[in-house]
Amino acid sequence: MYFSRHNIFSKLKDSDNYFIVNLLTGSADILAPEKAAEIKRGEYSDIEEYKNKGYLAEEDSEKKLFNSRYLDFIRNRENDEMQLFFVPWYECNFKCSYCYQSEYSNESVQLQKPVIDAFFAHISEAFRDKRKYITIFGGEPLLSGSIQKEMITYLISEAAKRNIDLAIVTNGYNITGYSEVLAKAPLREIQITLDGTREIHDKRRALKNGGGTFDKIAEGIDFCLSKKIPVNLRVVIDSENINNLVELSGFAARKGWTDSPFFKTQLGRNYELHSCGSHKPALFDRAKMYEELYELLKIHPDILKFHKPAFSVSKFLSENGELPSPLFDSCPGCKTEWAFDYTGSIYPCTATVGKTGEKIGSFYPKTSLDEGRIEAWQDRDVTSIEKCGDCPLQLACGGGCGSVARNNTGKLLSPDCRPVDKLLELGLSAYFGEKI
Ligand code: SF4
Ligand code: SF4
Repeated sequence: MYFSRHNIFSKLKDSDNYFIVNLLTGSADILAPEKAAEIKRGEYSDIEEYKNKGYLAEEDSEKKLFNSRYLDFIRNRENDEMQLFFVPWYECNFKCSYCYQSEYSNESVQLQKPVIDAFFAHISEAFRDKRKYITIFGGEPLLSGSIQKEMITYLISEAAKRNIDLAIVTNGYNITGYSEVLAKAPLREIQITLDGTREIHDKRRALKNGGGTFDKIAEGIDFCLSKKIPVNLRVVIDSENINNLVELSGFAARKGWTDSPFFKTQLGRNYELHSCGSHKPALFDRAKMYEELYELLKIHPDILKFHKPAFSVSKFLSENGELPSPLFDSCPGCKTEWAFDYTGSIYPCTATVGKTGEKIGSFYPKTSLDEGRIEAWQDRDVTSIEKCGDCPLQLACGGGCGSVARNNTGKLLSPDCRPVDKLLELGLSAYFGEKI
């Protein structure tokens, strides 16, 4: 009998209490300081309870449970929906201060209808028996030129013809210019980025000519919500704009956005995927971002009406009363996610699309797949990354992002660590400790 290697045990932030979470058995408890002291001493007065919850385990039976949950995970993923990204071009009308794509130099050719036709032919064949939806990505997909508009309209109508749902990731500037097309599209959601209230946002996400973009984006969000098009508002956070979340959530409330059932939000960190140019000093690491968020929420709990942070599995546990299933893999690249671009190339995912050296095949002018490279992506999970093998956080972390891992270490089969224990210290305190 031993203290399970899947226990995550630590102290709650701003509390004398501790927590213990075990994703393999789905058990979680808040522990009084004297119970935590027992664990630290390796003496257990609640031995039967701890055995039932899997906090104390026999090595063999724990291994068996691990293997069977792993097989469940792989089987369930077989039935998951595919998210297929399509990049019509990498051009953009913005010059965001932190854009990772600005360092790409992709072929400047105009997207043609035969490429769109080949894309649909390929996904109909390759993902024939799979549930799937397409996410139109960029660059900025909703550019104002007439050829660009014609191509996006054609892409949308071809998806609609095949009953394939769409999502669009846009900077939100030209939504009203595309209103007719969007109103008729089979849209699951539009992801729009707004980095703060007007002054803050415009400083970070200006037009190429320096002009402000906030007002047109807000108008676009109003339009979507009025047409019941789901909006997923993304706020890219770093040390320069985190405090502005207070004003931004107030603005969203006054606009009535937060009352709409068609409105949700996500917070993103500045992408550390590639070099991120000159903007690196403002980058938050994941733990720091959540720490600052936690402190901000203590003073301004109203932000929770705008965005409720996940803090790893804390939010899920507080909303569902149970833990999520163990996460053996958090990187969907070449598994449930693929990315296609206007040159006819195929990539594992959004982080790699358009990046030199990351191509894994083509769908135009003819189909070819680099099976060896695809297999390498498909093999990546916490059972194949050596360092994850004895990590207690593995079933909440899932090994992180393959692209970030390879950028950092040169190896795909390497970890991109998530500070799960730190996030649980904050999140379980926030949602169960009545501090917020
Ligand atoms: S490499 Fe990173 S961005 Fe790409 S699918 Fe994996 S987790 Fe997502
Ligand atoms: S990526 Fe790091 S934190 Fe995540 S499971 Fe692997 S070793 Fe643990």
